[in-house]
Amino acid sequence: MKIVRFGRGSWGILEGETIRVTRGPGGPRLRKRIPLADAKLLPPARPTKIVCVGRNYRKHAQEMGEEVPAEPGLFLKAPNALAAPGSSLPYPPFTKSLHYEGELAVVIGRRMRRVPEEKALSYVLGYTCALDLTARDLQKTDLQWIRAKSADGFCPLGPWMATELDPFDLRLRTVVNGQIRQNSRTSAMIFSIPFLLSYVSRFMTLEPGDVLLTGTPEGVGELNPGDEVAVEIEGIGTLSIRIV
Ligand code: MG
Repeated sequence: MKIVRFGRGSWGILEGETIRVTRGPGGPRLRKRIPLADAKLLPPARPTKIVCVGRNYRKHAQEMGEEVPAEPGLFLKAPNALAAPGSSLPYPPFTKSLHYEGELAVVIGRRMRRVPEEKALSYVLGYTCALDLTARDLQKTDLQWIRAKSADGFCPLGPWMATELDPFDLRLRTVVNGQIRQNSRTSAMIFSIPFLLSYVSRFMTLEPGDVLLTGTPEGVGELNPGDEVAVEIEGIGTLSIRIV
């Protein structure tokens, strides 16, 4: 099932090129249907927080000149960072180095607190594509990454959430202006999704709608005004935005 959020905050399920309107994420189904082409899509989650993992792919850690971590390196984005699929984002005036990081995002379905790894996936509602936009220069100089990682629009999410998806070996590609810049598989993650969810839930309660960004593979790089950037994940779809 593919769950969409659209319009002024309505939920629906994709039925081919049509959205079947639902009362909440995943159901119950209402009678109303609208063409997908007529809907303005929104990020397919309403998180209280977005928990992100840095350096979760070996080759990305290497390209950043960093060690492979012994424990997950976590940081947060706040909900202000969300941006809808298809958004045009102004190049932020406070950075000289805006980077794309294509990532698989996990959306939580029910409250998660101190959950063992083997039960973690049963708390997941679905998976979507994310861009972890990063002001790379400020990431190196600011005390914390509030500005570098959580500025307005720094977390495009979408285009919809895929449920019943096996997340362990999906192709993930980031394409900038039609050129493939990142091309990896989720099987290359250092820390698995169940491990990360369980790890976070030991000290931070995850609420329904909260999002985990699972890290980016190698190939990160600069964005400039006029660039079109797309994250494509097998079994989900394509999230694209434009920098203006
Ligand atoms: Mg990242």
